[in-house]
Amino acid sequence: CGVFGVFGHPEASALSFFGLHALQHRGEESAGVCTTVDGSEFFVHKGMGLVKEVFTNERIEYLKGTTAIGHVRYSTSGASKLENAQPLVFKYRGGNIAICTNGNITNADEIRAELEEEGSIFQTTSDTEVVIHLISRSKANGLVMAVKEALRRVVGGFAFLIMVNDRLFVARDPHGLRPLAMAKLGDAYLFASETCAFETVGAEFIRDIEPGELLIFDSDGLKEDRFAEMERRALCAMEYIYFSRPDSDLDNINLHSSRKRMGQQLAMEAFVDADVVTGVPDSSISAAIGFAEQTGIPYELGMIKNRYTGRTFIQPSQELRERGVKMKLSAVRKVVEGKRVVMIDDSIVRGTTSLRIVNMLREAGAAEVHVRISSPPYMNPCFYGIDTPSRKELIASTKSVEEIRRSINADSLHFLSKDGLLEAIGRPVGEYNRGMCTGCFDNDYPTPVNDEDPSCGC
Ligand code: SF4
Ligand code: MG
Repeated sequence: CGVFGVFGHPEASALSFFGLHALQHRGEESAGVCTTVDGSEFFVHKGMGLVKEVFTNERIEYLKGTTAIGHVRYSTSGASKLENAQPLVFKYRGGNIAICTNGNITNADEIRAELEEEGSIFQTTSDTEVVIHLISRSKANGLVMAVKEALRRVVGGFAFLIMVNDRLFVARDPHGLRPLAMAKLGDAYLFASETCAFETVGAEFIRDIEPGELLIFDSDGLKEDRFAEMERRALCAMEYIYFSRPDSDLDNINLHSSRKRMGQQLAMEAFVDADVVTGVPDSSISAAIGFAEQTGIPYELGMIKNRYTGRTFIQPSQELRERGVKMKLSAVRKVVEGKRVVMIDDSIVRGTTSLRIVNMLREAGAAEVHVRISSPPYMNPCFYGIDTPSRKELIASTKSVEEIRRSINADSLHFLSKDGLLEAIGRPVGEYNRGMCTGCFDNDYPTPVNDEDPSCGC
């Protein structure tokens, strides 16, 4: 998912619209924004679909105020419905409260069961709702303490934007699993899952939110606080590999540049003599450019993506996913015909995409298709808000590299090593695992997880 927030700008809703539009790739199922003028009334609009489909000029004008939080969502099975669309907005004993989350709370089921036992009535099946209940029921002294108490109770990877009356709370999990950055636009503060949203609205990037940090905005301005000590820093490697947009920076590292380095590294680890290098658009183009640069094999546009289809991975059923791939990609026959092609992709999850692409290139006349993947084999589910199927559907968890090569019909197949990946991302040495989460590759998760149950909220 993607979140966007505004504090102190007269056009908070319009900024949110543009910001969320820039984060659209993070979730295409639903979009929503909640605003307020002085906290006494919350204005909310949300709907299923793309940002541009959910919002009209009239809707944006209706969303009055200088504070806003917004969300784009993708979910796992079953939970794709309007009642789970965010922001979640409630009236509670303290007034108005609204929340947006990017990520996943791994102990949400346990907390929910406990609260229901005590009489809580949940209105959604979203894991995020537990945070509202925890804040509302808190016996802590004052709102700030209640928010901290609630945040300390939840485990997982998350970036939260929480509006309570005229206050805005901004928080990031103690491991920094999910990204969250801050910018300024004049005197106003903006927040976004990715920095590309700041470019879109002409805001100036200030910094990333620190793991365990809690920012509080009210009529006195900004207070920098924390709800927890920073734990082992573990920023999601998939953000670098696939999820974030190439024009975003994560911890001051540009995504396109790090993907290019992944491609270069892959070329050093798994060179193959060929005529052209091509990348699966859009997420693998940067890595393909890096592979080409390193090997001297020309980079070519061997495939074209139809810009009017959404991300195939995000569609719910296998059948739709398979149909989506066909809708989405075409080979450029004149580029690949008779050629030995190196096909770069960022990841193999189920293996469906790779098989279809290899076959598509062969049907277009490619003489050989060598697949190079700019990440290690994806063997374990994610518990922190990246949509992954169960382990048995992850092709790399049951098959060897050679078996995968055969099942995707490739002439050769190599994955980037984990060390090569960490080197390419280029975060500081010295931190455990270079400050990254690589749980889906090495089963080393930064928090305790209930294996086989990656119940994913967002
Ligand atoms: Fe990212 Fe993988 Fe860690 Fe999930 S398990 S947060 S996808 S690196
Ligand atoms: Mg892809």
